[in-house]
Amino acid sequence: MNDKSRLESGGDAAIVTRFAPSPTGRLHPGHALSAILAHDFSRARGGTFLLRIEDIDGARSRPEHVAAILDDLRWLGLHWDGPVLYQSQRLGLYEDALDRLRGAGLLYPCFCTRADIAREIAASGSAPHGMGEVYPGICRDLAEAQRTRRIVAGEPHAWRIDMAAAVERAGELVWRDCEGMDHRADPLAHGDVVLARKDAPASYHLAVTVDDAARHISHVIRGVDLLPFTDIHRLLQALLGLPTPVYCHHALLTDESGQRLAKRHGAPTLEALRRAGVEGHAFADDLRAGRMPVGIGAAKG
Ligand code: GLU
Repeated sequence: MNDKSRLESGGDAAIVTRFAPSPTGRLHPGHALSAILAHDFSRARGGTFLLRIEDIDGARSRPEHVAAILDDLRWLGLHWDGPVLYQSQRLGLYEDALDRLRGAGLLYPCFCTRADIAREIAASGSAPHGMGEVYPGICRDLAEAQRTRRIVAGEPHAWRIDMAAAVERAGELVWRDCEGMDHRADPLAHGDVVLARKDAPASYHLAVTVDDAARHISHVIRGVDLLPFTDIHRLLQALLGLPTPVYCHHALLTDESGQRLAKRHGAPTLEALRRAGVEGHAFADDLRAGRMPVGIGAAKG
């Protein structure tokens, strides 16, 4: 359905949701829940549902995972609007956003290895942090001449945001959830996160923020495990002058004992369920109804 016919049919063309899997492995039941919720939210309102493949991580993304994801979604009975979007084809957009942030003096090159960072954190004896380890700022105060010399010499580097400077620039930041509640974003808690990786032209945070805005996503529907990152996405929206969608973070799937149903706990992939003959529509309906889906336990993989 195009925007015009959707409007004529009384739907809300302003509602746009997306499912944005990373093709670094097969999908699991938790992914299916995110996809179903995003799909159904949009369909119930006559909106648009997009599929975006987050494949900027060239080393870990695989075409065979993409093919399986498309088959899994069809098996669940989910249909997306328009072409599948691939982040790997949109690198210029991320580069433009990086240039703007760099031009505003908010990024710096970071030459640290994981070992450098771990050593510095151990030496400082800092207590573990709720957000995981926060970058200790080793490269933040390098002299400009030294930065240039190391870049020109071809030393591998990431680009980090100077979080304190960025937060000062952006001021107070708020985002709204599906219930209409406002939340204050706290990007400082994450420290100087990476926006362009050594091995990838953009980080998840930058690409997701730029793409959600470019595709006019009105409601971001995703698992609560990604909730903390909304702090960072909200900050980037403010710095880049992008609109803020409504955020809906759903609870993660758990088994009977309340354990998160994740791949490391042996939950089957959707592909394994498909191959075991589980009926996709029934599986999706169980997830919609909040029931433990048919077939879990019937297949391993
Ligand atoms: N690509 C991310 C993932 O698979 C999800 C991105 C998002 O929904 O913001 O975890």
